[in-house]
Amino acid sequence: MHQTRLQALTSIQKNSDYVDNKSGNRKISEKYAELVFTHAQMKRALDGRLQESFKKSLESGGSLDTDVAKALAEEIKNWALKNGVTHFTHWFQPLTGLTAEKHDSFISYDDKGHVIEKFSAGQLIQSEPDASSFPSGGMRSTFEARGYTAWDVHSPVFITEHAGSKILCIPSVFVSYTGHSLDTKTGLLRSLDRLNNVAIELLSEINVKASRVQTTIGCEQEYFLIDKTFLNMRPDLLLTGRTLIGGDMPKGQQLEDHYFGAIPTRIQAFMSEVENELYRLGVPVKTRHNEVAPSQFEMAPIFEEANLASDHNMLSMEVLRRTANKVGFACLLHEKPFAGINGSGKHNNWSMATDTGINLLDPGTTPAQNLRFLAVLACVLRAVNKNQVGLRAAIASHGNDHRLGANEAPPAIISVFLGETLSHILDTLEKEGDLSKISAEKAMIDVGINSLPKLPKDNTDRNRTSPFAFTGNKFEFRAVGSSQAISFPVTVLNAAVAESIKEFVNRLKEVKKSAVSPESAALQVVKEFVVESKAIRFEGNGYSDDWKQEAKKRGLKELLTTADALKEFSKKEHHQFLIETGIYSEAEFASILNVQLERYCKNLAIEAHTLATMVRQYVLPATQNYLSQLATGLKALESVGGDPSMLKSQRELVRELAENYDKSATGLKEVLLLVEKAEAVHEEFDKTSVFAKEVVPSMLSLRKFCDFLESRISDDLWPLPKYREMLFVR
Ligand code: ADP
Ligand code: MG
Repeated sequence: MHQTRLQALTSIQKNSDYVDNKSGNRKISEKYAELVFTHAQMKRALDGRLQESFKKSLESGGSLDTDVAKALAEEIKNWALKNGVTHFTHWFQPLTGLTAEKHDSFISYDDKGHVIEKFSAGQLIQSEPDASSFPSGGMRSTFEARGYTAWDVHSPVFITEHAGSKILCIPSVFVSYTGHSLDTKTGLLRSLDRLNNVAIELLSEINVKASRVQTTIGCEQEYFLIDKTFLNMRPDLLLTGRTLIGGDMPKGQQLEDHYFGAIPTRIQAFMSEVENELYRLGVPVKTRHNEVAPSQFEMAPIFEEANLASDHNMLSMEVLRRTANKVGFACLLHEKPFAGINGSGKHNNWSMATDTGINLLDPGTTPAQNLRFLAVLACVLRAVNKNQVGLRAAIASHGNDHRLGANEAPPAIISVFLGETLSHILDTLEKEGDLSKISAEKAMIDVGINSLPKLPKDNTDRNRTSPFAFTGNKFEFRAVGSSQAISFPVTVLNAAVAESIKEFVNRLKEVKKSAVSPESAALQVVKEFVVESKAIRFEGNGYSDDWKQEAKKRGLKELLTTADALKEFSKKEHHQFLIETGIYSEAEFASILNVQLERYCKNLAIEAHTLATMVRQYVLPATQNYLSQLATGLKALESVGGDPSMLKSQRELVRELAENYDKSATGLKEVLLLVEKAEAVHEEFDKTSVFAKEVVPSMLSLRKFCDFLESRISDDLWPLPKYREMLFVR
């Protein structure tokens, strides 16, 4: 074995006695949210009048009353100081898809010049970071250079502990001076508001009492965990989050022995340390298990209101990364860290719930409840069908391109899976116009008034190949990438559904004028929506080639790369719903698109240059070493008169190595030339397309030569950690 790899393995053995001694024996309920200044605490900090005013700001999304802000700032400061906090920061989500923070100390002087701790209402509710270096997609040049962060009062402040330093984090939106969004949270908040408004309208039309509708989200976070030593030894993992070469691995996931298997000791210790931290931060982590690929794991919380769920997912990713780093692991959140085994996704479980406790995607037990369910279901179907391009584009990234359509994750075609029972019910409605002909045993029910059967819950049907699947009482948007912030995909989904609900309400009002009953009117619109969105429903195997053909016939879009998806998305007809629903202005949308395009190209350029560096500095030198060893040996054998037929295999090996050396050296030049070509293109969609259609394939073909070399070169000459070491050594 190569000396540096041997040293790495030796150091890992030393780490293997890591156990979690942070969590202690405290009950979850005891430590839960102890690092959060909760809404209950906020309420206690305010007297009657201020409480009322605070409640109003929460409901209307308006700005905080100065007295409320003052009272809260004072209480929050005292609480933070008691907890040893020295700094505060507005914690926000710029268009980079990451979180950003800039720490300010509480330090100040009193009027006698003594150092004191100060935290004002102004500092709590607003801050002005130097925004010029955040991506804005041209937004700030159009409007105003400054950017502001403002506390999103729906999301409570919390304390993070990092290397012994405690920081008060204030979840914030990031907007320009003129109020244009520069982040992913602002759009999300607008979409939640919009969806609430139209959903309330719909419910009132179908006689369901509720005064608020929330979007609920539970996201299952997948990740890989490898030893940090390996990450530090691989430029590709370090700089791009994924391996650009490598793959000599006889055992991957074919035995299916990792999924739900016993959790290895070091991993278990890591998980409980992460969970302990998340509980303290008020994140309700519920499940943990091994995923399909070796060294791949998953964590999922109990679902929450979408804005909070989104913040909590950002926080979870941070805690995963940070904890890993602290205990000698690297947590890889990239969508495709390793070739040949599964990549990672983030299933977004999505539904809507009323303030009266109804899950609007719960089929319920009475005919009236079923009407409500069918109406909401029909709206979702129409939304996904109509805005499939938006949904596909919302999850597009250079990382996710490796997953979608690669037979391990949902395909690059958006479709909806409903399960057999629901499909049958919708098909019947389409054919018959009502549901009176639903056979009792098919629907497991008595057919009630207004011909609405009691619908059974259908939790048994599982279709892992669908990008958007109904799973009993919620939809699971499965195509989201593991490293992505969920705020944008959820915003797009909410906007699409909001638009369809609005359309439902409009049509319902029309149909009601001539219908025999309000119920039959609603059912009529459900039917129309079902018919209109028929193309999007697919129950079969999403990985199959047949589906690609079939989808094409149905007019569904297969958008294989981010370049394809963003180009479609840029067409007015495919993003109009975001503008019409008031979630983004044209300028805001353009800036989001620009940032996505730019990030895609930049990330791919970094990958290409990293690959080139690795080929030059690792692959080619290692090959040369081995070749010269072989050549020396061969010469020696020839000089003592070795039988030529006995030397055939060695000569063959030399030939293969030399050939692949040459192909790698040429391939690397080709990759760099194509990057240059792409970067010289000015039109951004064309540029993106050169990256997607030329640079990426050239990298793949270069990789093949390198991987061949890895598989042939003597183990003691290969300097990069191998897949088997990164994925199986614990
Ligand atoms: P799976 O079988 O897909 O793992 P689970 O029932 O464990 O399904 O749920 C996965 C995620 O879905 C969890 O985070 C869970 O809290 C969430 N979830 C359950 N109900 C809802 C809902 N009504 N809205 C949003 N998310 C939900
Ligand atoms: Mg799931």
